[in-house]
Amino acid sequence: MARNMRFRDATLANQVAKRICELAGNERNVKICHVCGTHEWTITHFGLRELLPSNVEVIAGPGCPVCIVPASEIDEAVELALRGVTTICFGDILRVPGSRRSLLDAKAEGADVRVVYSIGDAVKIAKRISGETVFFAVGFETTAPSTAVEAVGKPPRNLSLLVSHRLIPPAMEIMAEMRDLGLDGFIAPGHVSTVIGLEPYRVFPEKYGMPTVVAGFEPLDVLIGIYMILKQLREGKPRLENEYTRAVRREGNAKAQQLMQKVFEVADGSWRGLGTIRFSKLTLSKEYSELDAHLRHGLKVETGVDLQPGCRCHLVIVGRIRPNECSLFMKACTPRKPVGACMVSSEGTCRIWARST
Ligand code: SF4
Repeated sequence: MARNMRFRDATLANQVAKRICELAGNERNVKICHVCGTHEWTITHFGLRELLPSNVEVIAGPGCPVCIVPASEIDEAVELALRGVTTICFGDILRVPGSRRSLLDAKAEGADVRVVYSIGDAVKIAKRISGETVFFAVGFETTAPSTAVEAVGKPPRNLSLLVSHRLIPPAMEIMAEMRDLGLDGFIAPGHVSTVIGLEPYRVFPEKYGMPTVVAGFEPLDVLIGIYMILKQLREGKPRLENEYTRAVRREGNAKAQQLMQKVFEVADGSWRGLGTIRFSKLTLSKEYSELDAHLRHGLKVETGVDLQPGCRCHLVIVGRIRPNECSLFMKACTPRKPVGACMVSSEGTCRIWARST
C-alpha cells in the first residue's frame, strides 16, 4: 500500500472513530477548530464529521489565505492594474471581490492581469516585458518563503511586490480570545508548520489551556489529531503535540525562517472577517523597500468594503456559522458566480461545502 494510502484506510479510520466516541463520552460538548483549507477539504470530502459523536464538533477557522485578504488590498491590486501596471497573481485571487471590482473585472475592462503558479513565473514575465509589473504576493507562511527567495535574488527592476502575506498563529490567538466561541482545542495546520515548526503554538496550551495538535491532511491524520486532542482533554493536561511527524520538525524550516526574517517585517494586518490583528502581516523590510509596490506607485487605498450585501463570510471565516446557514449559499452564491470570498478559492469553506453538496 502506498505510504499515504494507509492514511485513507477505511477500517483504520473506523477504529479511530470508535476510540474518539469512547473518549468523548457524553458528558460535555467539545469544539475543535482547524485553520486550514486543506483540513476542511479532507473533513468535508471524506465525510469525517459524520464519523464523530454528536458532542464533538470541528469548525473551520481562518485557514484560507485568499478568503482573508481584505477588500482594501484587492482594491490596491485592481488600482495598479487599471493604472496600466501588468498585475501578476495566483489564479485563486483573481475572482475575490474588492470593494467594487475583482481583478477579473479589471481584466475584463482591459487591464493586463496575468495568472501564474509561482512568483518565479512572475519574474519570467517581468523579464520579457519592458513596462512596470507587480506581483500580488498572497498566502500564509507556506508561500511567504518563495516571495522572500525572489526578493533576495535581485528580481528585474520593473517588478515590484504587493505583499499580502499573513501569519497564522496570531489569527489562532484571536480565535482563542473569542471566549464566546467556546473552543476547546486546535488542529494546527501541517503545511504552515513545516515552515514555522511547533514553538509558535506553545501559547495555546500554556496560556489558553487548549490542547493543540499539528496534523497532516489525510483522513487518518485528522481523525488521529482529534483523538489526541480529546485524550488531552480527558487527562486534563493540555499540551502541544505533533501528529504529522513525517513532515513537520519541531524547529521547522530554519532556512525559510531566516529568509523571511531578512526580507520581511511583522506589522498589524487587516483580515477579512476578523478586522485588524496585531503582528499578523508581513511587510517588506527597509532593505527591500525598493520592491514595495506601495512606495513605487504611491498607493493610498486604506479602507475597503469587505462584505457584499447578504454575504456572511465574516461569520464563516471564524466558524460562527456553517456555509449552508448563509441564505445566499448555492442560491445567489455558487462556485460559478461567487458573491463572497469564501466561495472563490478552492480553500474557501463555502467553496469546499459547495463542491460536496
Ligand atoms: Fe459569502 Fe457566499 Fe459563503 Fe454566503 S455562501 S458566506 S455569500 S461566500
